[in-house]
Amino acid sequence: MALVVVITGTSGAGKGTLEKILLQRMPTLFELAVSATTRERRPSEQEGREYYFVSESVFEQRVQEDEFLEYVDLPWGARSGTLRSEIDRIQANGKVPLLDLETDGAVRVKQTIPGAVTIFVDAPSFDELERRLRARATESSGEIQVRLDLARKQQEQRDRFDYVIVNDNVDRAADELQAIVEKELQTAGTMSRP
Ligand code: 5GP
Repeated sequence: MALVVVITGTSGAGKGTLEKILLQRMPTLFELAVSATTRERRPSEQEGREYYFVSESVFEQRVQEDEFLEYVDLPWGARSGTLRSEIDRIQANGKVPLLDLETDGAVRVKQTIPGAVTIFVDAPSFDELERRLRARATESSGEIQVRLDLARKQQEQRDRFDYVIVNDNVDRAADELQAIVEKELQTAGTMSRP
């Protein structure tokens, strides 16, 4: 059973930072499954690295052609989805796909891919989440409020996932994430052996 690691959690909890650290620490094992999105590229982002940035019409065409394993319509208007081709490409390279999804998408992947392991990353408190989102300053204040409302609903769902990591300190949380994936890699390896 091929392992797929899904990182989920609230917007602003630090999922992206933890993923980057994991990819740096274990570059031969993991690769990020790059989603397609209709949202605008942030200055720090690169086409094909964080996302494939596509127009509404291209996204809709891909939906119609069943190219997405799953996709989501986010409350602030953006659409983002996991391309089946990304999972196939990464697995064909002998690596484990790492997915960054909001909570509903993570649940859908868990239901459709038997080898999926889901990890929920949370901020230590709601006040801290709000502070981080405002400090990032990549969204308008209206969009920040919508992200905070969604975050509250997502936090209530955290028990639906295989693991919860509280990102109180980046180094400690990254060590915890690494320990989880090492354990899961060992289990997946043991189970696929004849
Ligand atoms: P952001 O706009 O901050 O990059 O992402 C917003 C939310 O969308 C995050 O929670 C992120 O995990 C989620 N997300 C990004 N790509 C996908 C995707 O392909 N599918 C789903 N379900 N969620 C995604």
